[in-house]
Amino acid sequence: SSLGGPDASVSGRVRVAVRLRPRNTEELAADADFADCVELQPELKRLKLRKNNWDSDTYEFDEVLTEFASQKRVYEVVAKPVVESVLDGYNGTVMAYGQTGTGKTFTLGRLGDEDTSARGIMVRAMEDILANVSPQTDSILVSYLQLYMEAIQDLLNPANDNISIVEDQKTGDVSLPGATVVEIHEQHSFMELLRLGEAHRVAANTKLNTESSRSHAILLVHIKRSMSGRESDFSSENDTPHLTLPILRKGKLVIVDLAGSERIHKSGSEGHMLEEAKSINLSLSALGKCINALAENSAHVPVRDSKLTRLLRDSFGGTARTSLIVTIGPSPRHRAETASTILFGQRVS
Ligand code: ADP
Ligand code: MG
Repeated sequence: SSLGGPDASVSGRVRVAVRLRPRNTEELAADADFADCVELQPELKRLKLRKNNWDSDTYEFDEVLTEFASQKRVYEVVAKPVVESVLDGYNGTVMAYGQTGTGKTFTLGRLGDEDTSARGIMVRAMEDILANVSPQTDSILVSYLQLYMEAIQDLLNPANDNISIVEDQKTGDVSLPGATVVEIHEQHSFMELLRLGEAHRVAANTKLNTESSRSHAILLVHIKRSMSGRESDFSSENDTPHLTLPILRKGKLVIVDLAGSERIHKSGSEGHMLEEAKSINLSLSALGKCINALAENSAHVPVRDSKLTRLLRDSFGGTARTSLIVTIGPSPRHRAETASTILFGQRVS
């Protein structure tokens, strides 16, 4: 029942899953003689990170998703509970964190036009939402943004590239005046919106001479539902059961395809590349601090340190749910990055 709100216990507020992608053709060929850098034990919800041929460190997660985990299963385990609580009128966030090339966009953003089993979390979430709202009384409003170098750009109207974050001092609600908001009635128009946003993202990044992997992509889905009073009539002692006012439930789902977490190893990085990397590190470390605070049930969530966390401020409230998927690759050559990704997921779980 939604009356009590989602379980706001420590484990209920933040869930962390790890997902391993399969070896690609190149890795199969190049690393054929080497074992993967990780070994997964999904039933035990454990992951072993190899240190050498004899020894490994073991980490626990809320969910461990192997290279055989289907997109459907990933959605059900990681995102569906968040979507359900958003339909009940709470805020929820699903984020993917990991090195570029480990499957963040595959997990969140895949459209699956040709093969519906390939559909990612964004598409599946909207399907679930559309199946559960009532077109007569409810509305679904979507915005799609990119956050690059602490500037927010509208992916549905790329000329609008300096969107500011407005925080309601009383309620703590975050709004983005000027960002395009599209009302969604059917899956087809949502798919078109995602396609348009992605095309704009590629074009904008080409213009800026950067890569999509250096920006955060943020999908916002506002759901406003007018429940009939009867459905939520819990005042049985009331003598006038027909005097029922519609109950408004407002939930917000935020899905964030984070910038690649790889650090700049080349000490030669300078100028724009260095600024870019600094900005990514700033926002990802600010995010890590906030998620840690949530996981520890701390009263103070330090949202002020970056635009990313300020944008997510109202997604970090007491009843909000957060799912973090950390994505990793199997190649022993990326062991150091994989280790750093696992540690990010550990600190927050
Ligand atoms: P990222 O967004 O983290 O940079 P991508 O989602 O673009 O990574 O994935 C990199 C490549 O790996 C893509 O070609 C993608 O199709 C493939 N890939 C990622 N995850 C999986 C998976 N679970 N199963 C099969 N292929 C995957
Ligand atoms: Mg990507």
